Formats: sequence, structure tokens, C-alpha cells
Amino acid sequence: MSPEWISVFRCPHCGGGFVKNEEGLRCSSCGTVVLKRGTAYRFVESESGHPSDRPDSITVKVKNVFKRWPRFYLFLIYVFGTSNAGVSPKAFFERYAPSPKRRLNLGAGTQNRYGDALHVDLYAFPDIDALADIRSLPIAEGSIDAIVCQSVLEHVHEPEAVLAEAHRVLASGGHLYLTVPFMFPFHSSPDDFRRWTRQGLCHDVERAGFSVVESGLRHGPTTAFLLMFTHWLGLLLSFGSARIAEIVTLMASAILAPLAHVPDLWLNRLKVSHVIASGFYVIARKK
Ligand SMILES: [Zn+2]
Repeated sequence: MSPEWISVFRCPHCGGGFVKNEEGLRCSSCGTVVLKRGTAYRFVESESGHPSDRPDSITVKVKNVFKRWPRFYLFLIYVFGTSNAGVSPKAFFERYAPSPKRRLNLGAGTQNRYGDALHVDLYAFPDIDALADIRSLPIAEGSIDAIVCQSVLEHVHEPEAVLAEAHRVLASGGHLYLTVPFMFPFHSSPDDFRRWTRQGLCHDVERAGFSVVESGLRHGPTTAFLLMFTHWLGLLLSFGSARIAEIVTLMASAILAPLAHVPDLWLNRLKVSHVIASGFYVIARKK
């Protein structure tokens, strides 16, 4: 994290600026100390790792094993994960906020890291720069040029509060990139509250004070179909056991999920595919 970011942080208690000290940061107005642990300034106290409301879930256990090696985990996500279309977060940052502009990654998780961007999450994943609640960011108003928030909003109880915070911290004319799921099974991480149509996503973004620059499919219809099929197969062969359902779904996904990439090379280009897309992206500009 660039030392310049410290000038952007604001005290969660009084809104004052920070100076660096041996423990981390100290608010120059009220004296609040923000500790630094590893790479991260801790604006909130948070457990390390990623809590789940299904601690006995095999999928979560398998994911947590592979999350120990973030790069290998990203490779597995690429092969067994969703088919991708539209604009990637990396392409968004390069187009709308080339370095050294101020880039913010909200709910960074184990996903890609974007060079000198500030990576914020509620949980202490590797290479997170700031542990904070993204509904109430310890960041100065109008100080950010571009924000990525990828597959995060469905896990937040108040997504409208995240959009309001993104709007507050962006400079006038700054850009926001969001991805959200549409046809996608329930996935607690640790919670999962909702889904968006493309129309609903654009509406929510505009209501938060942005104008939509572009929107489209981010994850394709074959991904949606195979996700539903493998979960359906799990249910069918489960004999009512959630554990068996999960094992069957996991095994079927290991075989079928990579196949989604081929038909979606074509289907992701069709406008009509939005009716059963797996997820959408939107790029929006602060008015
Ligand atoms: Zn303070």
C-alpha cells in the first residue's frame, strides 16, 4: 500500500486525519489508534479468515483449503468458475483510472489484487490493506477516482449503504464498477441476501446518484444452467440429506463446470441472453 493512502484515511470516530506511528495510525484530532497487523490497518476488529454460517459445509472446507494458496485458488476459479463476459475489473481500472489514480477495491476477498489499489475487506484475507465495514468507510469524501466492487453486494445486508458510501468517497466524475449475481444458487459467504436483474442493478445504481455508462452480462447463461443442473442433480440423488446433495453437486461440478466456457463464448454475445444470465456488471459515473 502506498504511504499516500494514509492521507485519505479518516477517523471513524471524529472524521479527523491520521499520522503514522509505531503501532499503526493515530488520529490527530481525538487520538484514536488504528492498529496495523500484517498488511492491514484494522479500522474494525475482525476474525482472520472467512467465517461461514455453514461451518460443516464440504464446499466451504474445500474452498478454505485452496484459499491458503490464493494464486492457485484463482486458477481453480478460472477453470471451474463462471464463464466471463463484458468488462473485467482490471480492464475497468486501466480504462477509467490508469495508475497513479486512486483505485479502491471494496470487499476484495481473495479475488485479484490491482497493484497500488487500496484493498478493503471486513475479513483479514492475505494482502488486504484496510479492515473496514464497507457500509461506513474510513475514507475522505471525494478522494477516490475509481471503485471496483465484485460479487460483494449480495452478501451485504444493506447494499444501498455500500452504494451511498461509494458515491460519497468518489470524486465528481469518478467511476464505479459492480458485478452482481442473477441466476445463481444461494451461497453463504457468510450470508447471501439477494439477486439483481440487469434492469434492477441499473436502477439501484441510478437511485444512488450515478449515471450508467454501460452494463451487460458478466457471467453467462450456460454457467447459470450448469449451476442449476448440478444443484438439481444433488437434490435428486440426496435422499433428503444436505450433505449427500452437496457431495453430488461438488462432484458433478468438477466434471461439468469447465464445459460452460464453450457455449458461452457465443451466448455471452447475444443481447437476449440477459434473461437467464448468471450475473451482470455495470459501470457508472458519479454525476
Ligand atoms: Zn478521531
